[in-house]
Amino acid sequence: MKSFFDIDEKILNLSEIAENEIKDQFEEIEKIGSYNSEKVLSAFVQNQVCERHLHGTTGYGYNDEGREIIDKVYATAFKAQDALVRHSFASGTHTLTVALFGVLRPGQTVLCITGTPYDTLRSVIKSNEDVGSLYDFNIGFDTVDLTDDNKFDENKIFEKLSKKQYDLIYIQRSSGYENRLAFSCEQIGDITKKIKSKYKIDVMVDNCYGEFVQTQEPTSFGVDLIVGSLIKNPGGVVAKSGGYIAGRQDLVEKCAYRHTAPLVGKEVGATIDENRNLLLGFYLAPKITQEAHKVAIFTASLFELMGYEVSPLSTEKRYDIIQRVNLKSPIKLEKFCQGLQKGLPVDSYVVPYPWDMPGYDNKVIMAAGGFTSGSSIELSADGPMREPFTAFLQGGIDYSTSKIAVMLAATEVIRNER
Ligand SMILES: *Cc1c(COP(=O)(O)O)cnc(C)c1O
Repeated sequence: MKSFFDIDEKILNLSEIAENEIKDQFEEIEKIGSYNSEKVLSAFVQNQVCERHLHGTTGYGYNDEGREIIDKVYATAFKAQDALVRHSFASGTHTLTVALFGVLRPGQTVLCITGTPYDTLRSVIKSNEDVGSLYDFNIGFDTVDLTDDNKFDENKIFEKLSKKQYDLIYIQRSSGYENRLAFSCEQIGDITKKIKSKYKIDVMVDNCYGEFVQTQEPTSFGVDLIVGSLIKNPGGVVAKSGGYIAGRQDLVEKCAYRHTAPLVGKEVGATIDENRNLLLGFYLAPKITQEAHKVAIFTASLFELMGYEVSPLSTEKRYDIIQRVNLKSPIKLEKFCQGLQKGLPVDSYVVPYPWDMPGYDNKVIMAAGGFTSGSSIELSADGPMREPFTAFLQGGIDYSTSKIAVMLAATEVIRNER
């Protein structure tokens, strides 16, 4: 069949080989996807979602049954006591900020056991300016770096815990812009159990990009609170904005008090016309995440065959949907993003260049062209312009078309090798 796109002959051949090599993984991912779809459907059925829940409210949003049912559906599917799911969370960072300020009080201290958190969280923790960071409210934030082989550093964690009182353990499941694998729910559960056997302390997980990649979420493994973005996995591409917090009821309630106002909490919050989008998106989310999972594996396999270092490897088990491709040169990183952009459904004719981004230290180049601005469950790639010039690729709501974009990225990269 003739392609509609200018894909290099060599890349066409390598892509065929790549797809042959990853067949078994695809079968496994489809099993996870089907299980999760069934789980979500069952949450809809158990909570008796009905036609009237699809409609939203205006103004204060009192008695918004759709809003209440969405919280219940998330809580059921994520095996949590309660959830706070709102389109009015502006981003993942906003949701995480509400969760931290919701559960913490002045004088308390967080211990993050996955090293320095994601770039945009850093000014939430502490800033040199008077911007209302945790630091400005006398809330401390300590970190324990991972070991050299990117495991939890149990010795250092327990040394810290023995010397000082901590009030919250913070875990970032996905890698963010670090060169490490994501943590599995089992690994998170294991360290949570060890810590809780000695200390009475709550554990919160930044679950961004992790939802539906496994058959369970960290809440099934003793974690007290999970937080994520609706323009990533659980929004299923239909949610136009938002975030969720799920976990223990008392903690979710505190977050709701911070999100709106003390004692008002979940009683208000107009949903406008977003209830249908949040419900439909969550219903589709396992399948959409499954597609993104496949896109990541295909990218790994293709670039391995092209001789590039990738992480995770195509054969490695995954716990998030992020794929790193080490392009080793600034120009190839640019070409990768520019090639990918050519195969995106919106803004395909735009040429991305590195730019200063709010919340990030280095210049960043981003390829993005989805139906929701900034959505990273839709195929996108970004890379901070620093060594080793790694492209972080994620998303893809449809494997067959996303594959084209990845092949176009590969085409730009090899044409630049010659
Ligand atoms: C995406 C993400 C966030 C939140 O980022 P936003 O861009 O504000 O949605 C936080 N942590 C991790 C690990 C992420 O991937």
